[in-house]
Amino acid sequence: MTGAAERSLQVAVVLLYLVQLTAGLTCFCQRCINQTCEAKPDGGCWSSVMLINGKQERDSVCLTAYHLTGEINCRGVGRFSKRKCCFTDYCNREPMYITDIPLPEGGWTRLQLVLVTVVPCLLLLFAILIIVFMARGHPWPCRARMQDPEEALDEQTLMSPDKCLKDLIYDMTTSGSGSGLPLLVQRTIARTIVLQESIGKGRFGEVWRGKWRGEDVAVKIFSSRDERSWFREADIYQTIMLRHENILGFIAADNKDNGSWTQLWLVSEYHEHGSLYDYLNRHTITVEGMILLAQSVASGLAHLHMEIIGTQGKPGIAHRDLKSKNVLVKKNGTAVIADLGLAVKHNSTTNTIDIPSNHRVGTKRYMAPEILDETINTRSFESFKQADIYSLGLVFWEVARRCSIRGIHEDFQLPYYDLVPSDPTVEDMRKVVCDMKLRPNVPNQWQSCEALRVMGKLMRECWYANPPARLTALRVKKTVSQVSMATKDVKD
Ligand code: ADP
Ligand code: MG
Repeated sequence: MTGAAERSLQVAVVLLYLVQLTAGLTCFCQRCINQTCEAKPDGGCWSSVMLINGKQERDSVCLTAYHLTGEINCRGVGRFSKRKCCFTDYCNREPMYITDIPLPEGGWTRLQLVLVTVVPCLLLLFAILIIVFMARGHPWPCRARMQDPEEALDEQTLMSPDKCLKDLIYDMTTSGSGSGLPLLVQRTIARTIVLQESIGKGRFGEVWRGKWRGEDVAVKIFSSRDERSWFREADIYQTIMLRHENILGFIAADNKDNGSWTQLWLVSEYHEHGSLYDYLNRHTITVEGMILLAQSVASGLAHLHMEIIGTQGKPGIAHRDLKSKNVLVKKNGTAVIADLGLAVKHNSTTNTIDIPSNHRVGTKRYMAPEILDETINTRSFESFKQADIYSLGLVFWEVARRCSIRGIHEDFQLPYYDLVPSDPTVEDMRKVVCDMKLRPNVPNQWQSCEALRVMGKLMRECWYANPPARLTALRVKKTVSQVSMATKDVKD
């Protein structure tokens, strides 16, 4: 080969390598319809096997860089589970097995005899040592096992039947693994849930109340047709640092093949009051109740929108479908933002959002004017946050109407109930919101109560036609907190 030809060959090899590096990986994917998935360049392929009820259940998917950090999903070989990560095309195709050594039938071997006699003696000695140790007043070297959070999490969760949801969520937030449990743990939880009753229907599939170890959980079931939505929502919920008291607590995602079709599950904390829409339909609220609800929705949205910088940082996220049906009410009267299926993440380094957004999504009634008339600048992430704020203003209006003062309140209504039909088209909404520039009515009597007066002012500042003029979620949150403190002071 000539020198020039050799050089061209070398360049071609380097180029091929670079293309491989930047193009990402193709992995075998048991959860995907066409059995393959594309991992991002910094991601990898994953495969696992787990013993469930004596059966070897296998799984293989693509992992994101976040799932690879800390190797939480990659390491581990045990009697009940095995998992690995790898980084070449289809490297996870070969099935893994758990090889359990069967006990020989008949008499005991010498090794077994030694084990049977020596092990109990050692255990006894160990127990005596512990008792002596404690009797001498030594503090117990607590949480020594925490040095390996991965092992502690996985094995304990799989094996110990006394774990409750609170423990799991505690593990999730302290393990340093971001916002989600290891995939195998998620699967184990999902497979031991017993469904009880259907509690809601939305855009995708159905939401059920289920029982896990005696506790209620919510299970959102997607059909295999909506696989992308399931994957997307699970991905958003597992964004690092997303967990917040005013964002629905995610527990697990699982895909269950029942022979003829795949059921896709998303498990979350259950809230018996249901959506804010249901709650306001059924109840009126006090001034304190209104402030609590408004404050928690604003806090949840401020957290969602906020970018946290750093390796354990969180990207800014816009919800894109904020409405009273996508907010849930907790037992203590606060609220959580749910249904993150349409949310988008902001990449501040490249100033892009993570999925293409060239079509109108969300609920027409709650769409901001710039979405209705398609003047929104989809290249700017700020635009999506500003559109969320418009919807927040409408939710505040729904809440404030139900605030009862000396028995006086309005009935529950959806925004624009008096101006558009029950299932409005984009055109119906555009005429009212963009052309006629109408907004929900703020009743005069709200001026006589300080908290309602501030709420009225806040919602007006959320639904300005000019998006940059709207308040930020953080500003709304702070103003509601001030009203909350002022009402407390008056009471004290
Ligand atoms: P979709 O994406 O189909 O709109 P949602 O997540 O919005 O699904 O859920 C639909 C409805 O199910 C909600 O409006 C609410 O009434 C009920 N729901 C959802 N999650 C829960 C939960 N965790 N606890 C109680 N009810 C819930
Ligand atoms: Mg919904």
